[in-house]
Amino acid sequence: MLKDQNAMKGLRTLAVHAGEEPDEITGASAPNIAMATTFVQDELLAFSAHGAAEKESFIYTRWGNPTVQQLETKLAALEGGEACLAFASGMAASAGLVLSLMKAGDHLVCSDTNYPGTAELFRETLPRFGMTVTPVDSSEVSAIETAIRPETRLVWLETPANPILRLADIEATADLLRGRDIALAVDSTFATPVATRPLSLGADYVVHSLTKYIGGHGDALGGAVIGARDAIAALRLEAGIHHGGVLSPFNAWLIMRGMTTLPLRMKAHEEGAMAVARFLEGHPKVKRVLYPGLESHPQHQLAKRQMANFSGMLAFQVEDGAAVAQRMMRDLQVIHYAVSLGHQRSLIYWLETDELLASSFKLGGQAAESYRAFAGEGIFRTSIGLEDSEDLCADLARCLD
Ligand SMILES: *Cc1c(COP(=O)(O)O)cnc(C)c1O
Repeated sequence: MLKDQNAMKGLRTLAVHAGEEPDEITGASAPNIAMATTFVQDELLAFSAHGAAEKESFIYTRWGNPTVQQLETKLAALEGGEACLAFASGMAASAGLVLSLMKAGDHLVCSDTNYPGTAELFRETLPRFGMTVTPVDSSEVSAIETAIRPETRLVWLETPANPILRLADIEATADLLRGRDIALAVDSTFATPVATRPLSLGADYVVHSLTKYIGGHGDALGGAVIGARDAIAALRLEAGIHHGGVLSPFNAWLIMRGMTTLPLRMKAHEEGAMAVARFLEGHPKVKRVLYPGLESHPQHQLAKRQMANFSGMLAFQVEDGAAVAQRMMRDLQVIHYAVSLGHQRSLIYWLETDELLASSFKLGGQAAESYRAFAGEGIFRTSIGLEDSEDLCADLARCLD
């Protein structure tokens, strides 16, 4: 019996139940994993994916899979979107969306500071296919406006942006784009639907690396795009079925299991991050702390308006960061010195400004100065996990004192 969807309103209820149904045959209350690549058919079907994309039942797992569909339904429910397409990684989701929406001659406006994989995809790959890209400081809506051209097809925001936690105003950007034929995509990986629901603020697409908070346990790569039903159906045909970077049912099952506790985990991540951010702000060796939940964050007012949860990501500057990074690799007892974020385990990583500006971001002039105003010579990007904040503070103190 299909559940009445109106019985599920709250985010915690949706996180637990949306997309999941007890097994019709066994009554199993937990979801199965459909580890099948192919599904037996009972009617004649054309072999082309063009016909298959409209079919409700399953044919081949690259076109759709029951376990992956459960995850997609849950994620669409949490984001308040009509539909979702899951990918093998966050990068597969970003690349799939951009390459499906844009063609040669089209123009993209993006944040000049974002996840390095995205930055490199935009700056290195898209121009090879005849697209042009203008990176701007997307915390200024006027900078986005100035960059728009007649051939602009897509505006890409990441908020809060990796690694300096700079925010972009989604609603103001959506207002700017209203009435123009330009799509707005938001990489909301750092925020999660617990903090921000970009579709409700006027975005057309929300992009997630499921590898991070949504999966939440550091054990499975995944990605997703959420948006309107027709838009996601078109994306499934091109990016899913033809580019082929789809999610494995096993990873879908792991990520879905993680998602059930997302609202609870985000509460704990935020609580821990706030405690660590305040500790760092009071530490004599720390020059600057960047955390949207702190009054000292230059966009704290926007953060309060746009984020119902300040998430667990923070960054901080110290004197001679490279030497402190060496000490961390040797002396940290709890926090892992490692890339990635959003897991139960706290993670920290040193990002040197000159190196990042020259490699991924390729920023000079005013844009480089603006980045440097946040990051100084470098920052420690820190993902606060679910441990006791006292232990995390003591671990950091060990390397700073
Ligand atoms: C990690 C990350 C990505 C890429 O995701 P993968 O799952 O590693 O491919 C994209 N955007 C942001 C903001 C990320 O943190």
